[in-house]
Amino acid sequence: MMAAGRAAELGAEVLLLEKTERPGKKILISGNGRCNLSNTCDLETFILQYGPNGRFLSSVFRRFFRDDLISFLHRYDVETVVKYGNKIYPASQNAREIVRVFVSYLEDNNVTIKYNTAVNHILVETNSVIGVQTITDTYPCDAVILATGGASHPQTGSTGDGYRIAKELGHTIIRLRPGLVPLVVEETELAKSMMGSSLHNVRLTAFQQRADAIDRGLVPTSDTGRGIKGPKPRLPVIESRFGDLMVTHFGLSGPIALEMSLAIIDALEKGPVGVSIDLKPEISSTGLASRLQQQFQLHGKRTYQTIMQSFLSHKMIEPFVALSGVPGEKTANHISMSETNRIAALLKSLRFNINGPYSMSTAMVTAGGLSLDEIDPQTMASKLVKGLYLCGEVLDIDANTGGYNLQAAFSTGWVSGEEAAK
Ligand SMILES: Cc1cc2nc3c(=O)[nH]c(=O)nc-3n(C[C@H](O)[C@H](O)[C@H](O)COP(=O)(O)OP(=O)(O)OC[C@H]3O[C@@H](n4cnc5c(N)ncnc54)[C@H](O)[C@@H]3O)c2cc1C
Repeated sequence: MMAAGRAAELGAEVLLLEKTERPGKKILISGNGRCNLSNTCDLETFILQYGPNGRFLSSVFRRFFRDDLISFLHRYDVETVVKYGNKIYPASQNAREIVRVFVSYLEDNNVTIKYNTAVNHILVETNSVIGVQTITDTYPCDAVILATGGASHPQTGSTGDGYRIAKELGHTIIRLRPGLVPLVVEETELAKSMMGSSLHNVRLTAFQQRADAIDRGLVPTSDTGRGIKGPKPRLPVIESRFGDLMVTHFGLSGPIALEMSLAIIDALEKGPVGVSIDLKPEISSTGLASRLQQQFQLHGKRTYQTIMQSFLSHKMIEPFVALSGVPGEKTANHISMSETNRIAALLKSLRFNINGPYSMSTAMVTAGGLSLDEIDPQTMASKLVKGLYLCGEVLDIDANTGGYNLQAAFSTGWVSGEEAAK
């Protein structure tokens, strides 16, 4: 929509072919319906969120970045607001407003929109675009912008068609993987027993080894991984993040699990991945053991299970107690020092083996996509086919949560629209 609107604004005659019956379905579900459209962080940190491919966006961001997006939204009377640290949302925190802006932008610039119209092929003659083809029609044209999105949440229309269409034209597709996706664990019974537990302010660390081989001493004290300045984590540590986690019936979800998912999925290609959850990262193992001991002495007649109420959320207590091997009904004054140390160790390192991602359809983004080597970063033009431009999530670009994915789509859309109009 950004690409079509911008090309039309510069005078091109534009036809937007949309597979579904409505525009912007994925925008509507973005940010839980609130649309986290960009981020206030500095450019260097911004680019880090896309991993190594972030550099590709440097020139695009020079032409259209966050402030340009905010000014663009102002043109349509949409104010923005910063929430949760540095995430930018429309002030209404309603994604519908963003879709409304784009529909107005398209209408104001006389873009013709055809809904329920899926493009099947881009037609090329002597290496130049000559049109596009749907099941029923052929539309001749001088330039095509392929903006078909990724392959996740296919109910929004992004079913991965763009990968096939571009591949037919000779473009290379970098292996598709789900990004920002929940993780399935091997210990499903344990996960089920903890299902629904929200773990706040914990540290999740992923290791390139099975869970039972994890050395707790290697857990970093600060975050490492994609988007974080500083040295890369050293194997066997893959990534480590502090924040919130959810245990589901199949495994791990919640912000830090989603953010670490891509690194874990890639690491699974190389070997087993185990994760360690530090439920009490603010305190050392020895500090925690003394705190437990103190509680056991203070409330000697209470059961171990009752005392754990001050250390764990309600849903975690029973499965945690079972896992610790110390009987829940044991009175605190009977708990030995070695049992106390075992409980402390488990609080500091609850472990799971990761089997894989939950599913592509539940991922927030698609990692992989059209190889950036075959696209001019200044113009978003295909280096293989004249008149073909590419933008948005169909590219081999994906980022952490925080508004980076939408900003990349808007920026690459803007530039490809300008260049296609030329
Ligand atoms: C649940 C969820 C929440 C998200 N929240 C955020 C967030 O808060 N912030 C953020 O930055 N990112 C978020 N994202 C990611 C972000 O929404 C996407 O990266 C972004 O929408 C990609 O934009 P796009 O235009 O490339 O693709 P899309 O938004 O997927 O649009 C592609 C369009 O192409 C159409 N299409 C596909 N194939 C064809 C075809 N053959 N012919 C014609 N039309 C076709 C589709 O119907 C669709 O309308 C979220 C994603 C999900 C799934």
